[in-house]
Amino acid sequence: MLEVVTPRAIVVGGGPAGLMAADVLLDRGVAVDLYDAMPSLGRKFLMAGKSGLNLTHAEPLETFLTRFGAGRDWLESSLRNFDNAAVRDWAAGLGVETFVGSSGRVFPTEMKAAPLLRRWLARLRDRGLRIHVRHRWTGWGADGGLIFDTPSGPVTVSAPATVLALGGASWPQLGSDGAWAGWMRNRVALSPFRPANAGFDVAWTPHFVERFAGEPVKSVVLKDGATARPGEFVVTETGIEGSAVYAFSASLRDQVDRTGSAQLTLDLTPDRGEERLVQALSKDRGKQSLSSHLRKATGLKGVKAGLLRECLSPDVFQDPVRLGAAIKAVPLRLIRSRPLEEAISSAGGVRWDAVTGTTQLAAMPGTFAAGEMLDWEAPTGGYLLTACFALGRRAGEEAADFLGTASR
Ligand SMILES: Cc1cc2nc3c(=O)[nH]c(=O)nc-3n(C[C@H](O)[C@H](O)[C@H](O)COP(=O)(O)OP(=O)(O)OC[C@H]3O[C@@H](n4cnc5c(N)ncnc54)[C@H](O)[C@@H]3O)c2cc1C
Repeated sequence: MLEVVTPRAIVVGGGPAGLMAADVLLDRGVAVDLYDAMPSLGRKFLMAGKSGLNLTHAEPLETFLTRFGAGRDWLESSLRNFDNAAVRDWAAGLGVETFVGSSGRVFPTEMKAAPLLRRWLARLRDRGLRIHVRHRWTGWGADGGLIFDTPSGPVTVSAPATVLALGGASWPQLGSDGAWAGWMRNRVALSPFRPANAGFDVAWTPHFVERFAGEPVKSVVLKDGATARPGEFVVTETGIEGSAVYAFSASLRDQVDRTGSAQLTLDLTPDRGEERLVQALSKDRGKQSLSSHLRKATGLKGVKAGLLRECLSPDVFQDPVRLGAAIKAVPLRLIRSRPLEEAISSAGGVRWDAVTGTTQLAAMPGTFAAGEMLDWEAPTGGYLLTACFALGRRAGEEAADFLGTASR
């Protein structure tokens, strides 16, 4: 009698990418064992849900794809295969409805990640996923097996196909600590990790920090070279943070790396043109203090007025023409990115030239890599999760193809 052998695969990493890979493999009739170092799965996903889980973005796919910059060529076919609309359908399939926020960002109606993760894991378990938590992968043994540190000592496991979905290197306390780079770099070309979607340090004066740390700076336009975007950010004790800053953070980080600093330019009055400002500032201020003249003429007060004083030289305030121009282009000098551990995501990891297809490690046929551990980056806005889902699916498909299973 012909014996039917169920193909087997291992997935290491129980974040969005690893779970999606497991989902596809199970769908293709593969028996899956999933290992994770932490006591529970999806910790970064859950953290992402703390401030509103931004699952994807509702903009047209052609615009969506442009957000991946240099990584687009690598990611495009996976994203077309599982795009922003597919993410919403998938969530709906788990009983989680989504809505489009005013900025086009897509959130679950409950805003949180926990209900989605709970239902997803329940469905995966029902379909036979075997989950092994507290299993920290530490490298390959001499026979090619995967070695895990477990509470009861080291164990070695192997399967014909393995998907690695170990995440990047930011927020290491949530499990993705990037330690895998230490033993993978002997076999696989890696780019160094760098902070992505990170804040920046600014050499604020103590007086400015004391008065304004924690203050949001609203309704400004941020400019980096020729690119300008409206938004808001927060002044911190060390510099600036916020999604409007993160949107520029890749190019600003690269400038800091190249030249030691970067300049972000702020238009503090997007609704008032320079001419109107100069006219108002040129009026005789009589006995008014400079700050009340500034407030009445331009509407600038609080942290915005503080930024002007912090970033402009005192003589500019004596000249309405120079001041009017400066309010539309306040130069903010950024001296470094915040550390990798604090960044929302990381750039770096497994390089494009280290894979065949989209996710198979060229040096290790049968081993696939997915999610943030691959060297691409994107701004916040739901792009990170969408790409992790899409790459997880692609890794699952490529692993199932490798195992020679037919698509159901
Ligand atoms: C505060 C915060 C908010 C965010 N908000 C959003 C958002 O709203 N929208 C969005 O699109 N993105 C957001 N992100 C980014 C998003 O969460 C990540 O890009 C995504 O979780 C990456 O998925 P992944 O599966 O590749 O890796 P991860 O989610 O990092 O999962 C990797 C898994 O691998 C495990 N692992 C690592 N090393 C080992 C090892 N050696 N052995 C065994 N297991 C290991 C880890 O424990 C972890 O469970 C946010 C990130 C943070 C930090």
